[in-house]
Amino acid sequence: MEVRALAERLGIRPTKKLGQNFVHDPNTVRRIARLGELGPEDVVLEIGPGLGSLTLALLPASAGVVAVEIDEVLADALPDTVSRHAPALADRLTVLRMDALRLRASDLPVAPTAVVANLPYNVGVPVLLHVLEVLPSLRTGLVMIQSEVVDRMAAPPGGREYGAPSAKLAWYAAARRAGPVPRAVFWPVPGVDSALLQITRREPPPTPASREAVFAVVDAAFAQRRKALRGALATWAGSPARAEEILRAADIDPTTRAERLSIEDFARVAANR
Ligand code: SAM
Repeated sequence: MEVRALAERLGIRPTKKLGQNFVHDPNTVRRIARLGELGPEDVVLEIGPGLGSLTLALLPASAGVVAVEIDEVLADALPDTVSRHAPALADRLTVLRMDALRLRASDLPVAPTAVVANLPYNVGVPVLLHVLEVLPSLRTGLVMIQSEVVDRMAAPPGGREYGAPSAKLAWYAAARRAGPVPRAVFWPVPGVDSALLQITRREPPPTPASREAVFAVVDAAFAQRRKALRGALATWAGSPARAEEILRAADIDPTTRAERLSIEDFARVAANR
């Protein structure tokens, strides 16, 4: 598929605002589909199908693809693109023209089992966390995002790269970096490096606290990540003394910092409030 020729025919000018960098390299889309480890039973959620190059690689590897695209022209053109390049697979495709950040399970005709996407960079992390939240049927994922963001999302506790997004993703899934992607595979060529993030759903830590309550602790702790937790959580708890009490009850040293806490630790803090 010639993405530039198709874009020209549709009158598409890729915008930065929507993170529109389209993959034109067939090896890259095949690699993404392969690393997605899809089986014939899998229903794939693709966020931001764009001109459809990845979609065309996902269709033969799965039972079906639900593609969610915010750009009206791209969403409307996708069924036609698939009919022309893979007519036998066209009935496996469903296109939803909407913002993936607003997606609900009830918008989908079937429950997707895997998310595979070349995510728009500006909203990659919130979109990924959102679909994991609202679609418990998702078991696995393979997404392409900015390389530094992949490192942050996959970071274990203890280092500089570990932050609120890593801790929140760990609530839903185990994540690992699955390799770099060269800039040259995109049109237009982006100003940043990209990489692949592989995720596997897991059970959230067992806790009486709600997910919202746990994420509130994560946000408060990382908002002042250089501070000792006693201070960083003072406003959240009501006072530094109360923060210290909660931390001790959760078996956490009040002088330690946010970056040392696993999602299980944050869950214990939330449960002791
Ligand atoms: N999958 C295509 C590819 O690999 O060539 C396009 C990937 S491009 C990086 C990101 C795509 O996401 C664009 O098609 C863009 O219009 C779409 N997009 C941006 N923001 C979105 C949102 N909030 N919801 C759904 N799609 C979005």
